[in-house]
Amino acid sequence: FKDTGQKKGTKRIGLMGGTFDPIHHGHLVTAEEARCQFGMEKVIFIPAAMPPHKTRKGISHPQHRLEMTQSAVRTNSYFTVSDIEIKREGLSYTIDTVQEMREIYAGWELFFITGADAVLEILTWKNVIGLLEQCYFVAATRPGFKLESIGDKLDNLPENCLARIKTMEVPALAISSTEIRRRVREGRPIKYLLPEAVEEYIYQKRLYQG
Ligand code: ATP
Ligand code: MG
Repeated sequence: FKDTGQKKGTKRIGLMGGTFDPIHHGHLVTAEEARCQFGMEKVIFIPAAMPPHKTRKGISHPQHRLEMTQSAVRTNSYFTVSDIEIKREGLSYTIDTVQEMREIYAGWELFFITGADAVLEILTWKNVIGLLEQCYFVAATRPGFKLESIGDKLDNLPENCLARIKTMEVPALAISSTEIRRRVREGRPIKYLLPEAVEEYIYQKRLYQG
């Protein structure tokens, strides 16, 4: 496993936050790759109640996003879903979630898994220094985002914080929830971009029809 310099035998857990509107194979491939590269015991998917960074109107109801996420992870015994952000309501801040998880998983190493685009926004997050003291970040490259640019953009972070950000390459998957929603609206196929159970849920509940 990739080394973090911590003592051997410390259990690791991955946290995958997102809007998941809807969850897709980009999310799932990224989480699985992080789990294997860093030797995590499991990955917890945490749908956000009201993501602070998203201003898009009409984000699907949390219950829909929760159910889609649950059905998407069902075929991977290392994946689970947590509703802590949805239950907390209001704005979802990663720092609050990480603190809650640290209490539950005391003594474990926490890894917050994100796409490279999300990590570039990290400087705008609430209490980023405190956040990086409490968990590692795994930044996955996705098409259109250069790994090297992460270093430049985060240059003004202290050295010990930068060391907490790990990067990882995932097979290129140009899949985004935005594109899936657009495709549904336009009546184009979404098959193979996301798990079949999620596709069925979208049509059954008539999500993203515009
Ligand atoms: P939207 O298009 O609505 O922004 P999204 O596809 O980016 O949706 P989010 O729920 O915003 O999905 O993303 C949750 C996390 O997953 C973020 O850290 C994001 O960077 C990451 N992510 C999303 N799509 C991919 C992908 N194809 N490959 C790797 N990481 C991804
Ligand atoms: Mg996004």
